[in-house]
Amino acid sequence: MNNPIPYGRQHITEEDIAAVVSTLKSDYLTQGPKITEFEEAFANYVGSEYAIAVSNGTAALHLCAMALNIQPGDKVITTPITFAASANCVRYCGGEVVFADIDPDTYLLDIDNVRKLLEAEPKGTYKGIVPVDFAGRAVDLEAFKKLAEEYDLWIIEDSCHAPGGFFTDSKNQKQFCGNGNFADLAIFSFHPVKHIASGEGGMITTNDEKLYEKLLQLRTHGIVKQDNKYQNSIDFAVGSSVSSDEVENYPAWYMEMQDLGYNYRLTDFQAALGNNQLKRADEGIVKRRALASKYKNAFENKNFLKGQSGVIEGHAYHLFILEVENRFGLYNYLRENKIFAQIHYIPCHLMPYYRDLGWQEGDLPVAEQYYKNCISLPMFPTLTEDEQEFVIDKVNSFYED
Ligand SMILES: *Cc1c(COP(=O)(O)O)cnc(C)c1O
Repeated sequence: MNNPIPYGRQHITEEDIAAVVSTLKSDYLTQGPKITEFEEAFANYVGSEYAIAVSNGTAALHLCAMALNIQPGDKVITTPITFAASANCVRYCGGEVVFADIDPDTYLLDIDNVRKLLEAEPKGTYKGIVPVDFAGRAVDLEAFKKLAEEYDLWIIEDSCHAPGGFFTDSKNQKQFCGNGNFADLAIFSFHPVKHIASGEGGMITTNDEKLYEKLLQLRTHGIVKQDNKYQNSIDFAVGSSVSSDEVENYPAWYMEMQDLGYNYRLTDFQAALGNNQLKRADEGIVKRRALASKYKNAFENKNFLKGQSGVIEGHAYHLFILEVENRFGLYNYLRENKIFAQIHYIPCHLMPYYRDLGWQEGDLPVAEQYYKNCISLPMFPTLTEDEQEFVIDKVNSFYED
């Protein structure tokens, strides 16, 4: 009997453990040097100017929504085939989520549907777009950026599935997910099922210095600790009237809460883990691509690979998805064999919370049809050859019986 095979699993090495232990023995458990190290290495990895480590991917999305100043009633477009947090961040700020249907050939937000929504309303109705590099496949952000400029929209790229993924732009350049060349902000998650694990954890990347500074502030309660940014007077800060030749600087204890922020910090020992994992990120993608190509070969004569035919350059393969008949039967059969496939995703607009806001079945037919047949097979770098063959055999034997 085989060991249980999940759809995704973290990989923790002795070196990862040593990195965490050494941070636990250091002076800093949080807000120490490991955070900066991780941020710099991550920015370098994706090719962005700035990176801000946060407590999880959802916090990253929330801070992005706040930094872009989403206000009650603001309309923001996203895909229904994503983890709910991509949409929820708009709701945290009181904005309105408008879901647009996916492209059946890529499972990504369909830009033509987004364009139709934008054309149907006066300019200014929509404020932004949250495209998702779903399953690890990079969105063509060059095209989205063009559309966004036309309608004066910002873009938050939800890149939780795709660190290390890229698309090829019109000048034949590789554009890595989260590099900030097209999106205003991009976000990542370090939940154990994602490519890089830190327990819980997240990252925001950007090339925009103003947004970067705003995000740093919002990550820590909206607090500013920088002399030239204070709004209150030095007199007030000192606590008594002082002459300027007596006191030129604000006292060392002084700080100001200038905005309503949160505590969305990552700890140093989580950053140490994430940073050590990051060193193996490329290795992990190579393995994921090899697994994907083996699955593709195995199923090439079936009609399972609807949304991923051909070679897809730059795919980071967070997920490997089949579209099958009798998905319920296959899912149960795999479970009986201790293969824990998963479904990504139940369309977000049909979650009871979004139904209560007016969404209903039939609104997004491509996403709804996709949901009926999709199933994610095991996909993680430590999946062994034997395990993958076992998975392939079981899928095939289910359809042969
Ligand atoms: C995992 C994930 C998130 C949320 O990240 P957490 O770290 O779990 O909060 C957001 N969007 C997508 C697409 C995800 O896969």
